[in-house]
Amino acid sequence: MEFTRTFEPGTIETRWYDHWVRLGVFTARPGSPRPPFSMVIPPPNITGRLHMGHALNNTLQDILARWRRMKGEDVLWLPGTDHAGIATQMVVDRQIASEGSSREALGRDAFVERVWRWREDYGRAIIGQLKRLGCSCDWTRERFTMDPGLSRAVREAFVRLHEAGLIYRDKFIVNWCPRCRTAISDLEVIPQETHGHLYTLRYPLATGGGGIEVATTRPETMLGDTGVAVHPEDERYRDLVGRFVVLPLVGRQLPIVADPFVEREFGTGAVKITPAHDANDFEVARRTGLQPLVVMDEQGRMNENVPEPYRGLDRFEARRRVVEDLTAGGYLVSVKDHLHNVGHCQRCNTVVEPYLSTQWFVRVRVLADEAMRAVADGRVRFVPSHWVNSYNEWMGKIHDWCVSRQLWWGHQIPAWHCDQCGEIHVARSAPAACRRCGAAAPRQDPDVLDTWFSSGLWPFSTLGWPDETPDLKRYYPTSVLVTGFDILFFWVCRMIMLGLHFMKDVPFHQAYITGLVRDAEGHKMSKTRGNVIDPLDLIERHGADALRFTLAAMATPGSDLPLSEERMVGYRAFANKIWNAARFVLLNLKDGDAPKVVRIRERSTLRLEDRWILSRLQHLAAAVDENLKEFRFDETANALYQFLWHEYCDWYLEMAKPRLLPGTDPEEGARARAVLVHVLDSVLRLLHPVMPFLTEELWQRLPHEGETIALAAYPSNDPAWVDEAAEHEMETLMEVVIKVRNIRAELNIDPARRLPLRYVAREPGARATIAANTAVIATLARLESVEESGSPAPGPSTRAVASGVDLAVPLAGVVDIQTERRRLGREIEKLSKESESHARKLQSPEFLSKARPEVVERSRRIHQELLEKIGRLTRTVESLG
Ligand SMILES: [Zn+2]
Ligand SMILES: [Zn+2]
Repeated sequence: MEFTRTFEPGTIETRWYDHWVRLGVFTARPGSPRPPFSMVIPPPNITGRLHMGHALNNTLQDILARWRRMKGEDVLWLPGTDHAGIATQMVVDRQIASEGSSREALGRDAFVERVWRWREDYGRAIIGQLKRLGCSCDWTRERFTMDPGLSRAVREAFVRLHEAGLIYRDKFIVNWCPRCRTAISDLEVIPQETHGHLYTLRYPLATGGGGIEVATTRPETMLGDTGVAVHPEDERYRDLVGRFVVLPLVGRQLPIVADPFVEREFGTGAVKITPAHDANDFEVARRTGLQPLVVMDEQGRMNENVPEPYRGLDRFEARRRVVEDLTAGGYLVSVKDHLHNVGHCQRCNTVVEPYLSTQWFVRVRVLADEAMRAVADGRVRFVPSHWVNSYNEWMGKIHDWCVSRQLWWGHQIPAWHCDQCGEIHVARSAPAACRRCGAAAPRQDPDVLDTWFSSGLWPFSTLGWPDETPDLKRYYPTSVLVTGFDILFFWVCRMIMLGLHFMKDVPFHQAYITGLVRDAEGHKMSKTRGNVIDPLDLIERHGADALRFTLAAMATPGSDLPLSEERMVGYRAFANKIWNAARFVLLNLKDGDAPKVVRIRERSTLRLEDRWILSRLQHLAAAVDENLKEFRFDETANALYQFLWHEYCDWYLEMAKPRLLPGTDPEEGARARAVLVHVLDSVLRLLHPVMPFLTEELWQRLPHEGETIALAAYPSNDPAWVDEAAEHEMETLMEVVIKVRNIRAELNIDPARRLPLRYVAREPGARATIAANTAVIATLARLESVEESGSPAPGPSTRAVASGVDLAVPLAGVVDIQTERRRLGREIEKLSKESESHARKLQSPEFLSKARPEVVERSRRIHQELLEKIGRLTRTVESLG
């Protein structure tokens, strides 16, 4: 096998992915004796394209899946997609419009067929993108929310909720989008701060004289007023309750009613009541017997219930005309600028209209209470735990859930209406005739269910519910859910409610809520800002492993991730570093080595560095395991990085090199190779969940048993190999080497030049360590001699202090002392100036108050680093004598 000088991710990723699929590595086996570990993927929309949010949460899920699999668990990571009712309908609508036709012209059946075709052609693009990321999902169990099985689960759930009295149909104020022409949920209404006006209107008393003043931000709704309300204890209006005002422009008489909902202190203390276009007014009307009057159609145009001149006008045009006419009639008392929040449709950004219509609702209070208990008593654990507060707050004041949508794409509601007698049949399948009057073939309700109704069933509908399948028995409740906080209410809450109701158990034991991937400056990525980073681009340029490692390294629980490509380039270099280390190890293997070389022989013959790296490996395995259990992906990645780059490559590999040279003791070389291979093999396994492709490629090249690293055993901490004494000794050794390297750097000494080192040991341990490892220290620090000496060396020398030992490097003939002293003097002067400038800034109240916190922090850090460097150089000058 050819071994290129640099790692080229593009050439290996697809190959290994196909290999894993061919071997069935990702397939869960419910009959296996291994303990189960299960997750369901947050199903991406079929209209979706892999974005950074997906890349993050799927990388983290894949790390967990691969880690658990290697630990010997039977892993099910169940994938699938969501039909995304409103989003998909809009996409296909646009496509049809571009052909000069429309959904209405096509008719419902042809339209739905068209959407299915669209899904066949484009709807699985995101699945291919998840594969590119390396996701180890069980594709044999891929699901779609509109599959026959899942559709059956949806009908079953709806019917059962209805039978339990938890689903009802009622006229109610819903959030209506006049552009999408459907009801939308509270969560899909985005409040936007808007500069509007507050209009005060005067409604004259029917008996003539005076009148009552009311205020509104939406004057066009006055056309639908059916009453005026005051507080029952408001002295000002006491005598007026039960009397009437006349609605200007319309002429209708409106009763004055009393209701405690009215705030006496607010405005004039009297409010107009528009029951069909305001949720609060609707409630007041129910209590006081006022009739609702719908004055708009589904597209937000004034309907036949308003006076002729306003009919057919768009609501905003109607507003203008109503204000004009009220002004002309002398009914407009005042207009004030008014800053307020106006709800907009999440999909199309149209102003949402509160609208009275007949909808289906889920009565959620009982479900929500049980769901809150499940979190309170720890059956579901949120990570980070602070999400419990948001959860409780939302669940505490949750409203009944409007689940009907006026769309064509989705699960049509399993209810059939009899047009003869009005009877409604909620049933698992279409009734042949009306059960009350016998009329043939009742008509199915035209509405479809909210997309989140089906995704709320996802953790069990995907496992075969309502049937008691082996999968359902084994994998429910799932172990972990990984998701973004943006769908905490939409989805996570509803899964907990519905899971507890139907399965009598929580849908998952732990919910890990990820942060948000932002741009390098910490801004939210958005199309309008133009700062969206496409994960597929990054995979193309740097490989999936580098992207995954970057996301893992940044995934600090509870924090957002400011993603920069530089950081990713750094991790690509890390992948390359590992590649080169493996290349070195493999090029040094001898024909007879494999596969027995991985067995480390006789421990007593191992050298200090061998015992040290083997001990460090145990600490690494323990740290990775601990961190992954607690979802500390960042610390997992950092521990792997530190170990591989610094301990393995920078130290161990360098120390092993001389032992591999020809002419050295062959036993010594064999031992070094055994340790090199053993540690590399172990660390590749530890790293595999984060960087699956690179690790597979290298593991396959190493002596190995088995068909894939993905099923190789995950290394666990073996305390027998922990060697604290070796670690302590190595620390001394490394400190000596680092001090000598610093001296070289500060005095600009030619790296090739070999130096003499004299030392005075202050502790017997340090003396023993240095004495036993003289050759290694000499190699690593490029020394010509290492001598213990009670007296200082003759002539000038530079000194350093390490723990337990004082070091001196005689400089006669190495550097020109005078020249060096002058150069260092100039360097110190320059650094001092820089440091003073930072110090001045950091003392300036203006800088501290105006600069961004990260700028101040940066300046503080640089200042600190400069001070340290100056201190170091000053000590060097002093040591020059
Ligand atoms: Zn809309
Ligand atoms: Zn009937």
